[in-house]
Amino acid sequence: MTGSTAASFTADDYRARMERAAREAAEAGLAGLLVAPGPDLVWLTGYTPPAVTERLTLLVLTAGHDPVLVVPALEAPDARRAAGAPALTLCDWADGKDPYTAAATLLDASGRFGISDNAWALHLLALGKAMPGSSYTSLTEALPMLRAVKDAAELDLMTAAGAAADATFEEIRKVRFAGRREAEVAADLDRRLRSHGHQTVDFTIVASGPNGADPHHEAGDRVIERGDMVVLDFGGLKDGYGSDTSRTVHVGEPTEEERRVHDVVRAAQEAGFSAVRPGAACQDVDRAARAVIADAGYGEYFIHRTGHGIGVTTHEPPYMIEGEEQSLVPGMCFSVEPGIYLPGRFGVRIEDIVTVTEDGGRRLNTTSRELVIVE
Ligand code: ZN
Ligand code: ZN
Ligand code: ZN
Repeated sequence: MTGSTAASFTADDYRARMERAAREAAEAGLAGLLVAPGPDLVWLTGYTPPAVTERLTLLVLTAGHDPVLVVPALEAPDARRAAGAPALTLCDWADGKDPYTAAATLLDASGRFGISDNAWALHLLALGKAMPGSSYTSLTEALPMLRAVKDAAELDLMTAAGAAADATFEEIRKVRFAGRREAEVAADLDRRLRSHGHQTVDFTIVASGPNGADPHHEAGDRVIERGDMVVLDFGGLKDGYGSDTSRTVHVGEPTEEERRVHDVVRAAQEAGFSAVRPGAACQDVDRAARAVIADAGYGEYFIHRTGHGIGVTTHEPPYMIEGEEQSLVPGMCFSVEPGIYLPGRFGVRIEDIVTVTEDGGRRLNTTSRELVIVE
């Protein structure tokens, strides 16, 4: 699922990530971090188990101790091949043994632990039973910025994922829209993202005409017609790092109102992008984009936050939303994606992934943000 990410990072990279995670957990008052299979485990160790099952796989990080990966014995050979394995001690357990007691012996049984959001309840409940004095909190809530700042190698992968999504858009704008079902265009997007190196496609929104007013519309049976605005929003993972871009196209000549609404969204996206700089708060990006739409009289039709972080997943902290005071730091990557949604009529969204640089922001999506006319 994560393709060739592992090739980009060394055991030392993973060791440094695990050390930092354990240190930040301690600073947050936690006795440690418990990481189940999923994006946090991939980012920390480069390891993706062959299948996620009822058998416990759990990375145990505690400050001042070597990281330990509790792993089913039959999967230990796979785990040993992970890029981060040299930085890990493996604690394998055979069927019939109790892995929770094994994990408990590594931990302060009265501690409070950050546990990855996607850990199965089955495992969390059994850990709680093995350590009756323990308590748990969401790893993402405790350390929201753990994966937010990308290093140079990660930025290269993010840039490549963005370029692949852009190449997909350059192709899709040349295909026929009129007379085809949304689902057919969505299948085109999926195939083209994969042909440009995506191993996983997370979403291919094709929202035509009135469907465009629903920001998360699933491509369906509607036949796209001449005169439709069509919101395209697609992305996934290429070599373990995410892409996510939106462009709104029009089938044939747009009306004056359609052009005006698109211009407002384009100006809002530009304003959001221009607000990106080190030290600005996440909410400043939202405010900048939202002000443009509100000033144009469409404030009530911009019905979602302006953006979300992206990395080894396509939606993660930090969020560009009112109330988020987190400061922007060079290396962060997130979307800037304002939209206007007119119920029963049409919608417009324009989305780029942006990374924070020393003196502002850099777009990882660079296709035209003008209203593109398609056939
Ligand atoms: Zn139209
Ligand atoms: Zn998107
Ligand atoms: Zn997005």
